[in-house]
Amino acid sequence: MISTDPMAVAAAGQFAPVPEDIVRRAPKVLLHDHLDGGLRPQTVIDLALESGYQDLPSTDASALARWFADAAYSGSLERYLETFKHTVGVTQTAQALQRVARECVEDLAADGVVYAELRYAPELHVERGLTEAQIVEAVLAGVDEGVVLMREQGRQIRIGLLLTAMRTATHARNIAELVVAYRDRGVVGFDIAGAEAGFPPTRHLDAFEYLRRENAHFTIHAGEAFGLPSIWEAIQWCGADRLGHGVRIVDDIQVDADGRVTLGPLASYVRDRRIPLEMCPSSNVQTGAATSIATHPIGLLRKLGFRVTVNTDNRLMSGTSMTREMTLLSEAFGYGLDDLQWFTVNAMKSSFIPFDERLGIINTQIKPGFASLREELATRIATGAGAG
Ligand SMILES: [Zn+2]
Repeated sequence: MISTDPMAVAAAGQFAPVPEDIVRRAPKVLLHDHLDGGLRPQTVIDLALESGYQDLPSTDASALARWFADAAYSGSLERYLETFKHTVGVTQTAQALQRVARECVEDLAADGVVYAELRYAPELHVERGLTEAQIVEAVLAGVDEGVVLMREQGRQIRIGLLLTAMRTATHARNIAELVVAYRDRGVVGFDIAGAEAGFPPTRHLDAFEYLRRENAHFTIHAGEAFGLPSIWEAIQWCGADRLGHGVRIVDDIQVDADGRVTLGPLASYVRDRRIPLEMCPSSNVQTGAATSIATHPIGLLRKLGFRVTVNTDNRLMSGTSMTREMTLLSEAFGYGLDDLQWFTVNAMKSSFIPFDERLGIINTQIKPGFASLREELATRIATGAGAG
């Protein structure tokens, strides 16, 4: 007999959402998070004051946080990207970049993230004369500082950096060279981002060819605002290791009225080759790439066994965190800790750090962390403390 009592269902490990406090303590892995999309609102204000930046819509932290979220819920990728004018505007010095990177590490560690790949575009921080190498150094210094600080507090977090080139610019090859130059210093890969329409990834083919020849890793923002051609180019022309978002891959999947699923050739390829999809549910709803969390393609793709991962994209603009994204998914799709662990292991397997380090984090942090939370949740339910 199948029980519909939520407690019994939760005890059987089905369909009851995982409580947020448990999700927060679960060891999580984040592959897609923009440094300039994750500033603390108060830090934006502090840095604006320090640097004489005049254009902030508010100097009250909670009002500013609301402004970012409102602007980001406009439904268009182009307007969403406008919010970055401010976060980028206040991070034009080495000091500011170092602070933002350190705080980012602190915030992620407090959210239970054990491994994260942070990305940012050096070319956006040169307005006050910093060189791109100085920008990379400043962020690395902030990351190192944050990791040490967290270690002192008993929190173990590992960070890899991705350098992003803007797809609207023609600068990708230089950024790719920086990735290779700093590959032994904490930079683990490359990315291209920015407005998708009209700027296909093949514009930057020389950068991707260079990276492949250098045995370097890269991901490409594709299949977010734009459909299958963008995903196809990213994979088959550029050779992307992973896809940033990739939600539009569902356009190549047909689900009949009787539930029968047919994959087109591109969707089959993505699934067969285990190409990781860096999905960012809240961000996708904000930009209109998905209509709601409940109807987000992640539900179907997870069911079909695609290599799906869960990410934040821009924590400030989406007012989100890894805990929130996973909690929302657990509520929308009934995911339990097993599902959340599956997403987490997927992400760890898909990271750009060496294989042995990935395994180390899976075996020493992720699996034991989830195992003890499963026990805790079972005890909580058994003693009637509730699943909510
Ligand atoms: Zn992104």
